Amino acid sequence: MNVRTVVTPAVNDNEVPPSPPSSPSRRQADVAGAADSVRVLKPRRAAPADAVRPTRAEVNLAALRHNLKVVTRHAKAAGASRVWPVLKADGYGHGAPAVARTLERAGAEGFCVALLEEAVELRDAGISAPILVMGGFNGDSRGAYDEIATRDVIPVVYDLSQVEGLARSARTMGRPILAHLKVDTGMARLGVRMPDLETFAARLAEHPEVRITGLMTHLACADAEEAQAEAGFTAEQVARFEEATTRLRRAGVIDDSTIRHAANSAALLRGDAIFDAVRPGIALFGVSPVLAGKSDLRAAMRVRSEIVDVRTVEVGESVGYGALFRATRTTRIATVPMGYADGLSRQLSNRGHVLVRGRRAPLVGAVSMDMSMIDVTDIPGTSLRDEVVVLGAQEGALGKDAITADEIAAHGGTIAWEVLTSISRRVPRFYREP
Ligand SMILES: *Cc1c(COP(=O)(O)O)cnc(C)c1O
Repeated sequence: MNVRTVVTPAVNDNEVPPSPPSSPSRRQADVAGAADSVRVLKPRRAAPADAVRPTRAEVNLAALRHNLKVVTRHAKAAGASRVWPVLKADGYGHGAPAVARTLERAGAEGFCVALLEEAVELRDAGISAPILVMGGFNGDSRGAYDEIATRDVIPVVYDLSQVEGLARSARTMGRPILAHLKVDTGMARLGVRMPDLETFAARLAEHPEVRITGLMTHLACADAEEAQAEAGFTAEQVARFEEATTRLRRAGVIDDSTIRHAANSAALLRGDAIFDAVRPGIALFGVSPVLAGKSDLRAAMRVRSEIVDVRTVEVGESVGYGALFRATRTTRIATVPMGYADGLSRQLSNRGHVLVRGRRAPLVGAVSMDMSMIDVTDIPGTSLRDEVVVLGAQEGALGKDAITADEIAAHGGTIAWEVLTSISRRVPRFYREP
């Protein structure tokens, strides 16, 4: 496959966006009758100096669009009319601005992020669709609340001091702030606790400048595949969410037009807890947390490098820090310029695999900060500059294979979410249209 579109890695993205940050929001653009097609910016070309080291992450924009289609099909089939991709943590490590631009062009009508800072980054990248800031923590400073208002982002509220801060900014701006209300139905993380709903509603009524247009909760066990107890947990959370809806309606906080949402990728793919909107994150990047949808989704990221050194190690000689690997045969050791500071977990020392020439090569010895070593004894013909695939698929002289984020997670004692978000900013992202 040829890389036709090579664009600036997100971390080095220092060009001025073609459209000024003050460009009209989608709502205003619609009113003005502006053409939708000019709304979204194309990814930009990379400067050659961006990638001296051959270690890079390739993000397949077509896979992102494909996955958006898949999750949208699941959402529509289950009765949710809105899909709001979750692009927190730099778009799960894929580069939030480029992912958002791609998905907005493909029809995504809104986005979710965790932090206000992430929402601001998307606005600066020219994204005009509604952005929901789910984390709810906006600091104590006046500036953050004003920024919510001026950047036209939707805060999630669950705490009265936030509501007061927002109301103050709304009064200054002379227009109401639209917000979503979060209810804690079982995560015990953020959200109004069930017993406090009426008290919260009463205090909210004192701040009419903050208008609740959405009601949300978050699921704790949506991806529990077999465990019946955990599957029952989702049903309990849904029941509490329904109860919260009834009570908040009675209290006059919400009405029939309020958009309700709870589902993450796992719930969406299983058809659980589908309300008016869904908030898929990891599924858009091609990882399914449940069996449903596993075969439909396409991994969006491929992390590759190249062999920078090959040497022969004799029986009894060791490899790497701590001499964690000792050769029991004459061994061909290749050095890969990617280490734990790039997001290749040290947990993979002596455990994980990479792909060379279409075949698996074990990581041997300790993964170090900038480099790691692999055993290529059983991969004949391996030489300098051969491609090494750490995550994703490879087709080579000896075969075809793929390493998934789930596999790396299993080796590293973690989950696919952490694998993707760990690829550090030192690894440049390249965006391609196959
Ligand atoms: C991260 C997150 C999501 C998306 O979760 P995935 O499992 O990646 O689909 C949805 N809602 C909230 C509140 C989140 O924090």
